[in-house]
Amino acid sequence: MFLRIPSVLALLAGSVIASAAPRVILVSWDGAGYELTSRLLAEGRLPNLQRMLREGAWSDGMVSSFPTKTAAAHAVLFTGHYGHRSGITANALLLLPASEHDRLETENGYFSNALRVDPVWIIAARNGLDTYAMHATQAYPFEDARARLSPSELEHLFIVHGYTEAQSRGESFDESSLHLEVPAGWAVPEAWGGEARAFRFAVAETPFLGLFFDDPLDPVQGLDTLGIVRETRATVFEARVKPGLGFSTSIQATVKGKSAWFSLRMLDLAPDGQHFLLYRSGAAEMAILNSEMPDADLPVMQAYAGNGATRPYARGRLGPRLADGGDGLAEMRFLETLAHLQSQIIAQAKVALEEDYDLVVLYSPVTDDVNHELFGYLDEALAGHDETLAAKVSPFVVQGFELQDTFLGVLMDAAERDDAHVVVVSDHGMAGTDRLLHLNVALAEAGLLTLHGDGSIDLSTTRALAPPLADGSIAVNLTGRPGGIVPPAEKTGVLQEVRRALGALRDPDTGELIITAFFEPATSGLLQPGGASTGDLFLDYLPGYYPSTQTRGNLVVEMTEPRGNHIFVPTRRNMLAIAAAWGPRIPPGTNFGKIRSIDIVPTVLDLLELERPADLPGRSLVPPATLLSGTPSASFSTKHLGAASRMVK
Ligand SMILES: [Zn+2]
Repeated sequence: MFLRIPSVLALLAGSVIASAAPRVILVSWDGAGYELTSRLLAEGRLPNLQRMLREGAWSDGMVSSFPTKTAAAHAVLFTGHYGHRSGITANALLLLPASEHDRLETENGYFSNALRVDPVWIIAARNGLDTYAMHATQAYPFEDARARLSPSELEHLFIVHGYTEAQSRGESFDESSLHLEVPAGWAVPEAWGGEARAFRFAVAETPFLGLFFDDPLDPVQGLDTLGIVRETRATVFEARVKPGLGFSTSIQATVKGKSAWFSLRMLDLAPDGQHFLLYRSGAAEMAILNSEMPDADLPVMQAYAGNGATRPYARGRLGPRLADGGDGLAEMRFLETLAHLQSQIIAQAKVALEEDYDLVVLYSPVTDDVNHELFGYLDEALAGHDETLAAKVSPFVVQGFELQDTFLGVLMDAAERDDAHVVVVSDHGMAGTDRLLHLNVALAEAGLLTLHGDGSIDLSTTRALAPPLADGSIAVNLTGRPGGIVPPAEKTGVLQEVRRALGALRDPDTGELIITAFFEPATSGLLQPGGASTGDLFLDYLPGYYPSTQTRGNLVVEMTEPRGNHIFVPTRRNMLAIAAAWGPRIPPGTNFGKIRSIDIVPTVLDLLELERPADLPGRSLVPPATLLSGTPSASFSTKHLGAASRMVK
């Protein structure tokens, strides 16, 4: 089946042209909201995105999924369907079939297991387009792609995925967590000087040995270098790293039986070894679909950190945070780990962009990582907002966005060379939160939920619960699933009780109602929450609140550190996502208006000149080209016609 429609441009170029081979690069900036991105654009901090908008299209914000969680929102971006249809309702999903699994059994919404519709890379590959999907949600496990495509169609699809089960998160080590000793029996000559110090560490299943030593070529007196080996009899270091010199080369380890590579960053090392700080990046298996993928065995295709140093940073392990009186060094170190991750993402993207691609789908978590840790300090809506602290934190949030903009510059260079379109999207915005609302504690207080002695939910006496889905939904414990006790006829009554109980909760400080809105599942309209794998009632909250499903304690409301979070109604201004497009068929200065994430797949298919499946609910955002006005974009027309006159494939 080959559905490519002859393009207007191909018609203009003359009948000798069989196909103009339109190309699209689709990139998602996780957690880059419309509100903050717009502010940074206005401040001139994102020059590449700024150029895209000048020469292409921007939107007035994009409404994504409800809840605005990464897996669900990306499923909308990548499939064009809402969760009730795609099967991906949140980051975690109630297991199906319902008749076999209770309301506490969940699966991973980032994986493809529950996906019920075709993602855009499947549609493209089915139409014979060479398609690359890198770190895209729901692209792994590969059984899904293998089931959707014939062997010959599968040859067009290349998936690179660094978020499998085999991941080891980055961690930091210092003198309190590693024991230094005088090296004994080491074969490397660097261990023979009196001052060298050795230590052991492990990355998942793989043990390593580290040696701090004095490099004679380094002017620093005392310990100035770290060398890594696997055993003392090794005669050369597998990697060496010095303070101030960035990340080491990649080092192979075994994570859950899979090969995974990590890098080391020597953040601090006192010459006497009394104090040091070492960061070990995340190590993620790189799963690759299609063994014939060109360059699949290049080193850049093997190492992936997955995320930046979010946990060590949050725990103060990179040094005191600005919020704890630090001077910005910890934030600088955190951003350096994100820059390292982004450099891996860029190197991998370049491998795909060097190929004769038709569609490349790319993902970067950098803006999400930085926003979760830091955006809470920028949000003026929080009661404890500290203007001085915000001014200190803000430059680091900006740096996170600048890393995305640099990535975009690489994509635009490739697109200019290839006459490709670039489409930039995000999955949600970000809001500051500093209070948790423990939904299950509130439901227990209202007599709707009871706990076992160990604190777990006792389904046999529970009528409503917030299942462990992190989507803020409340489920009625209906009889359709094992453990269910509420007959369908009583569902409405239980929902009313839930609304009464949660709707009466008030902020302990201001007395304001915490729940600002209730939503029931819907299959039409802007929000469309719900589906077979989630709850029966969805909530929105007073600014500053974030829901929790934990059951411990009696506290319904708990104060927390400010954080960036997203789960809220996607029409909230700070939850709006971004969408920009640039390329031959996008006239300069186009404004898409206010759009929905379901429009992205129809847009990409239109740009690829593929027929869109009839059941897609969204619409293409590509302005209709007319022969009267000639090619839509003057700045691109000549070049694109040039491209059209070469035979591509
Ligand atoms: Zn996200």
